[in-house]
Amino acid sequence: MNEGHACVAQPLIDHQHASCDLVAIRNPASLHEIVGQMACATAEIVDAAVRSAHAAGRGWARTPVEERVERLAAVVPLWEAALADQARLLTREQGKVLWESVADCAGPKLITRYFASLAPAALRAQRVEDERGTTIQRLVPYGVTVVIEPWNYPVYLAFQHVVPALLAGNTVVFKPPETAPLSVSRALETLSLRLPKGVLNIVPGLGPVVGPALTGHPLVRKVLFTGSTATGRSILKTAADNVKSVSLELGGNDPAVVLPDTALTDELMSEFVRGVFTCTGQVCFAIKRIYVHADMYDAFVDRFSGAVDAITVGNGLDPGVTMGPINNERQFRKLERLMQATRQTSARITTLGRAADESTWKDGYFMRPSVVSHIGADEPLVREEQFGPIVPVLPYTEVTQAVEEANRSEFGLCASVWSDDVEQALAVGDELSAGTVFVNTHRMGASDMTMPFGGMKQSGLGRTHNVDILRECSETQVLAYRANTQKFPGPDMVRLIGGA
Ligand code: NAD
Repeated sequence: MNEGHACVAQPLIDHQHASCDLVAIRNPASLHEIVGQMACATAEIVDAAVRSAHAAGRGWARTPVEERVERLAAVVPLWEAALADQARLLTREQGKVLWESVADCAGPKLITRYFASLAPAALRAQRVEDERGTTIQRLVPYGVTVVIEPWNYPVYLAFQHVVPALLAGNTVVFKPPETAPLSVSRALETLSLRLPKGVLNIVPGLGPVVGPALTGHPLVRKVLFTGSTATGRSILKTAADNVKSVSLELGGNDPAVVLPDTALTDELMSEFVRGVFTCTGQVCFAIKRIYVHADMYDAFVDRFSGAVDAITVGNGLDPGVTMGPINNERQFRKLERLMQATRQTSARITTLGRAADESTWKDGYFMRPSVVSHIGADEPLVREEQFGPIVPVLPYTEVTQAVEEANRSEFGLCASVWSDDVEQALAVGDELSAGTVFVNTHRMGASDMTMPFGGMKQSGLGRTHNVDILRECSETQVLAYRANTQKFPGPDMVRLIGGA
């Protein structure tokens, strides 16, 4: 990929770039600014990338895990040196404020170091010798593994799948998101060029073209996907044809339940503001619905709105800005639709915060944060995943009712319970159907790589992080020698039911 101003995310196969049609990548805070270009890989290019990964598979699988670890760890200083440039590039293509981009782009180092320390022991074969003989149980790679990621945390999300997949001995074909492909492609190219040819190939392009060409390819054995539930469903169908293993990290509509004993402090409000509005609300496990006891409902809405009002919206590179634009037009239009539907109800919409520079507003996908109170429980803003800076706050009278409403969703990614009594909060958390339930927090950083992460219901299949993702990237194989085959079941089994 070309560095600097003319930044292009291109297919990278066997360390070689392939050329194809390009589309412009624009800054969502300044749409006239072209940040770079993305190549649109064709089905033929995808096929070449998969075949190259397949050809490299045997050699990489036979490379000892310690050597795989060494090769990946050797790239960490290069990512560290590039961190500042990478973070600025990410803010320009994605929109998020600079500190959020730094956190995203710090992922490669943290994730590689973490899995480098975990993988050798986690992937070690278990050998048992007993009177039955010898049993060896080991985790073996699937082979060609496809990784597809969305635009909200493109670097971190890609690495949380690519690194464990490679360390587990798979070869990888990666597809970056089309509205933030540049920084992640650059970070992964740095890695790819330091691995044997074909071990990590990159195929940028349009989701409906590249996606099915990858997930339907007969040589692909594993798919690691992060994105919407709708795309996850279509991947499951495509992968069914040759029974691929699929791990899915999908959408969420995370509820936060505030119990009546909770003191409405400034710290609490600050946690809520971060939980809802980090990355402009475009976080899979952002707080997306807030349930507050009726006795404190007005006070909560009032204090929360006051805290939200401190948000300054603008270009994420501007140091005074605390919330960037929406990343892309599709997402912007979805949020406008939800706002329009909400305006037609009796809900109270309070739009807060301020624009850093009103004159730039029309040249970006900007939106001020909104708190929506007195909204019906069945309105689209409550039932759908908004993935943006608009949050509904709903009252409840009994905790059982709040739990029922919180669970009334096809999603089950994360949830949170808020209370001054941690044990009571944990007990209520026990009732919530979500992959992770937090107490008194619910934001980036609350879940880390040591905690398995993933969704219940239609929020996903499988878990990432921790040793769980190394297992997701591997198949269990058993090698068995049985010392005495005479004891195996045979015709004499009929004696158990009185036969001769
Ligand atoms: P999306 O499903 O539209 O796109 C995700 C990726 O899939 C993109 O790279 C896209 O190009 C690709 N794609 C599109 N069509 C495809 C197809 N037919 N086959 C294969 N791949 C295809 O999602 P999005 O709008 O980019 O991302 C937002 C969604 O991602 C939200 O629902 C959010 O909750 C979810 N998300 C989940 C997690 C998690 O860990 N659970 C994390 C981040 C985002």
